[in-house]
Amino acid sequence: MPRTLLLCALLALASASGPARAIDDAAPKPSTTIPRIDPEAIRADIATLASDDFKGRSFRSEEARRAAQWIADELAAAGAKPLVKGTDGTASMLVPIGRMPTAAPNVVAWIPPAGKNPSGEYILVTAHYDHLPPKSGAKEGEDAIYNGADDNASGVSGMIAVANAMRADALDVGVVFVAFTGEEAGLVGSRAFVEEETVPLARIRGVFNMDMISRQPDGAIRLDGGPKGKPLVDILVRIAPEVPIEMKVDTHPDWLDRSDQGAFLRVGIPAVLFSCEDHEDYHQVSDHADKADPVLAAKVSALVVGAVRTYAREMQPRFDRSPILAEDGTQRRAIRVGRTMPNAPYWKPATRRSPDRGLDAAILDELAKRTGLRVEEKSVPVGGELAALEAGEIDLVANGWNMAAAAPDPTKFRAVELFTSSGIAALVAKEGPTADLATLAGKRIVVRPGTVAETWILAQDPPIAHTTSTEPDGAIVGRIEKGELDAYLCDTLAARARLERSTSLKVVALATGENAFLLRAADSAISERLSAALASCATDGTARTLRTKYLGEEATKEATKEATKEATK
Ligand SMILES: [Zn+2]
Repeated sequence: MPRTLLLCALLALASASGPARAIDDAAPKPSTTIPRIDPEAIRADIATLASDDFKGRSFRSEEARRAAQWIADELAAAGAKPLVKGTDGTASMLVPIGRMPTAAPNVVAWIPPAGKNPSGEYILVTAHYDHLPPKSGAKEGEDAIYNGADDNASGVSGMIAVANAMRADALDVGVVFVAFTGEEAGLVGSRAFVEEETVPLARIRGVFNMDMISRQPDGAIRLDGGPKGKPLVDILVRIAPEVPIEMKVDTHPDWLDRSDQGAFLRVGIPAVLFSCEDHEDYHQVSDHADKADPVLAAKVSALVVGAVRTYAREMQPRFDRSPILAEDGTQRRAIRVGRTMPNAPYWKPATRRSPDRGLDAAILDELAKRTGLRVEEKSVPVGGELAALEAGEIDLVANGWNMAAAAPDPTKFRAVELFTSSGIAALVAKEGPTADLATLAGKRIVVRPGTVAETWILAQDPPIAHTTSTEPDGAIVGRIEKGELDAYLCDTLAARARLERSTSLKVVALATGENAFLLRAADSAISERLSAALASCATDGTARTLRTKYLGEEATKEATKEATKEATK
């Protein structure tokens, strides 16, 4: 824990003090919730992290970066996976601080949900790994390294033990492990994690933070959560006798803002701190590994595992995934439409001068009018649309054609086309090795520049390697020769037209229309209603008018031509 935040935290929270709670003395029931955690593994990890080799892991140092890599390796060995994608599109456990890219990174890993009803939500288990830079002006032979064994090699070692204990768990929530950087420098890592939304904050249900868990002479770990941490504290108090572990609860409201849980509590996320009282070696060069009590750290870790399992089992998913329509077809709640950043001509922010908000908004207004369905808008992070949809945070993604292509799992998602004239397809050689979306990624693909197909390719993650062509063959470009070119992306209708002239090609439909709404597959009653309303928009010319208004006469002419061709086939 850093010293500097103590005073302001005291001033801010002095009134939030609560009484210590005694451990429930009801007889503990046998439990599969609490694991056995080996103190020897924790002892060894504390010794490694607190060794002179890491020179106190000051967050701007090379040694801290090495420590981060060591922690990532340990988490990987525990079976945890990277969660966050870097700018190069690959997932890594090392997540740099946006504002300080040269500082040592946060380490972020997770155990993905493996339960029957994955909720799209997260529980965090955290500990800072940084400590202090070597003492300047130390005399020859004097100890200058702040090893930070209790603060906080102990918490990190506990976190690694939790990951190991949970490797085979099949929970409905994802368990995320974060080793924060720069805590001693003012909660740098946890503040960045919250501000940069390393994971969407709305889906974090709780944070278990360990900071100094191996130096408490009375054996009673201090647990602080305050009013906002109460849902977690209640569980911890209930299961502590099963470990068993002594606790002193909410004795230090001044600590709530003093370690990394503070960044989460401030934005309303339930979070707790496990810690020990400051001791004689606190923030001294003498905070050495041989003084740490690995048995206490192991008990705290076992308690955290039990609490995460219990919380995951008992929590209600935050987002409403109940059917939007009641049995009798009446609407029970509004359809929540996910919007990312403005994306003209599809989405525009309304201004006082212009209430016009773009094509998708106009279509939604039209559909609301025709169906009587209520809609409301929610903002979602770019790239997080599908996860938000799955989690039940939103019910509908507008303009989701590329997502329909990328995540075509029909058991989870259903696409409703806005315009049926121009979907995405791949033309492949009938005898060729490419038959589905999954095998397309490794192939060389030719597309027309500036087409929907190219946009789709660029939207893939990582983008599919492709070359562009300007051959004047309408939507159909290029040759399909086995061995040289295996697949070719184009518009569905154009592909069908091509197919009429070729016996050697087949069409793999990758997505529905160029504009599609994406819904959860379970919301089929809604998608049927929307489809019917869209069909009536097409019949009476409304769709054409709106399309022309926002996309221009050319696009509309082409689409109409293709639609006519399709209709007369
Ligand atoms: Zn600390």
